[in-house]
Amino acid sequence: MYESGFELEPLIRYASSYDSFKTERIVCELINEGVAAIFGPGTTETSGIASSVCNTVEVPHIITHWEREKVGMTNEDSSPFTLNLYPDTNVLSRAYADLLIDYTWKSYTIIYEDDDSLIRLKDILQIHDPQSSPVTVRQLGDGPDYRPLLKQIQTSGESHIILDVSNLDKIITLLRQASEVKMMEEYQSYIITSLDTHTLDFEELKFMRANITAMRLIDPSSFDLMNAIHDWELGERQFQRMYRIAAESVKTETALYHDAVRLFAAAVRELDATEEIETEKIDCKQPQQWEHGKRIAEYMRLRTDNGITGRIVFNDDGKRSHFQLEITELSKEGFKKIGTWDPEHHVNYTRTLGEAYEQVIEALQNKTFIVVSRIAAPFLDYRKSEDGEVFEGNQRLQGYSLDLIDAISKILHFNYRFEIVPDGKYGSYNKVTKQWDGLVRHLLDRKADLAICDLTITYERRTAVDFTMPFMTLGISILFLKPVKQDPNLFSFLSPLSVDVWVFMLAAYLGVSILLFVLSRMAPDDWESSHPCNQEPEELENIWNMHNCIWLTMGSIMGQGCDILPKAISTRIVACMWWFFALIMLASYTANLAAFLTMERMDATINSAEDLAKQSKIKYGAVKGGSTMKFFQESNFSTYQRMWAAMESSRPTVFVNNNDEGRDRVLKGKRQYAYLMESTMLEYFTERYCDLVQIGGLLDSKSYGIALPLNSPYRTAISGAVLKLQEDGKLSALKEKWWKGGMCKKPESGGSDDAAELGIDAVGGVFVVLGFGCLFALIVAILEFLWNVKKVAVEQKLTPWEALRSELLFAVNIWIITKPVCNRLSESESPKSTPRSQKSSRYGSEAQSSKEKSVHSVNLNNEKVNGFTSRSLSHLNRIGNFFTRKNNSD
Ligand code: ASP
Repeated sequence: MYESGFELEPLIRYASSYDSFKTERIVCELINEGVAAIFGPGTTETSGIASSVCNTVEVPHIITHWEREKVGMTNEDSSPFTLNLYPDTNVLSRAYADLLIDYTWKSYTIIYEDDDSLIRLKDILQIHDPQSSPVTVRQLGDGPDYRPLLKQIQTSGESHIILDVSNLDKIITLLRQASEVKMMEEYQSYIITSLDTHTLDFEELKFMRANITAMRLIDPSSFDLMNAIHDWELGERQFQRMYRIAAESVKTETALYHDAVRLFAAAVRELDATEEIETEKIDCKQPQQWEHGKRIAEYMRLRTDNGITGRIVFNDDGKRSHFQLEITELSKEGFKKIGTWDPEHHVNYTRTLGEAYEQVIEALQNKTFIVVSRIAAPFLDYRKSEDGEVFEGNQRLQGYSLDLIDAISKILHFNYRFEIVPDGKYGSYNKVTKQWDGLVRHLLDRKADLAICDLTITYERRTAVDFTMPFMTLGISILFLKPVKQDPNLFSFLSPLSVDVWVFMLAAYLGVSILLFVLSRMAPDDWESSHPCNQEPEELENIWNMHNCIWLTMGSIMGQGCDILPKAISTRIVACMWWFFALIMLASYTANLAAFLTMERMDATINSAEDLAKQSKIKYGAVKGGSTMKFFQESNFSTYQRMWAAMESSRPTVFVNNNDEGRDRVLKGKRQYAYLMESTMLEYFTERYCDLVQIGGLLDSKSYGIALPLNSPYRTAISGAVLKLQEDGKLSALKEKWWKGGMCKKPESGGSDDAAELGIDAVGGVFVVLGFGCLFALIVAILEFLWNVKKVAVEQKLTPWEALRSELLFAVNIWIITKPVCNRLSESESPKSTPRSQKSSRYGSEAQSSKEKSVHSVNLNNEKVNGFTSRSLSHLNRIGNFFTRKNNSD
């Protein structure tokens, strides 16, 4: 390097990295030769002695490597002649800690080389929150086989690794072996602390899918570096060597040496301008100092410069406390800058989200995702072959999940392969074994890239896996069997009142009738003159015989009333009470009858979760280890806590392995088992199993998402695709496709069973009663008729047959509407009238007698009386004569 006025000449000496005695000797030899500054040596073990010699003889000492802090050393103890261009340990450690905070790594494993690593990473160890998962610190060991160590880390499930190894060859070996044990997949992330990571041979690394982040001090695109490379290439050409030096291959130490020399040269040049600087041969053994050394060292420390390692600023200890680091990430083209770090601004990303997204999309192109799921229609089911065709791969499956992944794959252009989770479970954490099962376990074991089914996004699962945007929202509800329809009952009109009530009513009816009969006989007001016009009757009569009492009470309870009524106060009170009783009973019966005839009777009324919680007859459960079960297990709401306690203590268990099992248990449970499940599947079941019904509304609100391993780079892209499908209405179309098609009709809103019209089955009994009643009446009528025939035969001295015939002919002749009273004859013929005949004439009503007179006389002259035998006619004429006589006598 040539500078105006002076020339810098390098004197290069090699010293052992650990031999401080030899190093001291070499440093003294150099000082003895009259050097202006000592650069190096490059290890902490030997630079100390060099620093001490330079400090004694006041020769500037410049180092460019990481220096371990001396225990108990203060600012005053630091050598004023030693400057270190390598970033200060404390600040560098802060940079890595900031990166970690930014990456939100909660758990990580540090692989370190030696004890110095732990000093370098002290901030990383300090930021760790003891509440979260533990940080594992593993020493690399001598190697060269690091696979056992890597396998142990893999078994622990750790996917975040901080690698603090300075030897680049070791780093490459380690990464290669990590790739062999499948520790370089897309879900593993590495931070390599070496500032030379960018110089690794990325040809080998670029096929590794793990996310590798590193920091570097050099900006390969900087103008200073280009110039420096140009100088170096020129210098090489002097020796006829044609080297092309790639900016990315420049090591930190080289760059630091370059900057150190430039800094020194600039300081000397500037100081030389005011006072000429001459080198001096100094003997270390003598108490001798270089007169310009102090000035140069102090000036260098105060000066700020820009080198190929960025801005060079020293603090009072001669340490480089201000610098900028480039954050780089391994891509197909090598280590690409994604951001910067400096002590003021900390992590600052230069890569836009769009660029990051593009990178992921690019990575997706040729990827085949392993998608794990579980069999549960309509989400996923085996395809049934109709013509014996055997399906392979994804073809053997069908369902909502498959269609959704297929739609996403078409947007993001990736391939996929479905696998079925062996244990068929969703994924729950066992607090005893500290292990996950089901789909979550599969993802944690990195056996799959995506997990899809009716997998609910829960807080607990989110700690183990990532979720995309939800693709379906739902809530917990209750699946139950519809009320059993009662068999139609002909006599359902009897149902409104219980048997007891009917019996009591009958007893009351008879009791009141008898009471009325007894009281009326006792009450004087119910004894009346048989002829109302006769003010002084010789005898009184009482119409309240048992027959009439029964008729009055029957008329009242039937709501019809009666044409005769009691007159005495006591009997009227009894009648009033009976009417009141009849009023209430009739109203109750009528009100209840409507409900009984139209409504289906339920064994128990369950309308909500509260109703379930309140009773113990109907058992209820959920899918084992599912989010529904967890909802009740972890709820703070007293009703759900009670329900959880009931479920937990139920024997046999009320939990099932899957929704199908739960559905079957409800179907077979005779309304003794209700199943708590998510509304999506519930809807699917109720559309296909018409006996099933949803009880109440939703108890909570949650959603299903596609699960991915934690920190999956594909999460954002897949979430974006899900959102797009949702906006395009494809998600609803898919739901429609897989959910609809059930045969069960939903009850129409507003119309329910209780408004349904009544069938003959429900009211047939009333017809039966009517029929039997009429039949009974007919039988009674026949008996009455025959009794009358017998009487007529006796009275008219006819044969029974003649009497029957004439009475029958008379009865069937519908044109005759009046009939002579035969017993008047007997009445006249036997003057001794019995009380019964008295009563009868009275009961027959006085109103009839005058009517009868005229009507009979008309009928006797009626020529239309055809078909009568001469005997019967003479019998009728005699009756007519009798009336004429009797009327005359009256
Ligand atoms: N979808 C639920 C789950 O992911 C299953 C359930 O509990 O109903 O756990």
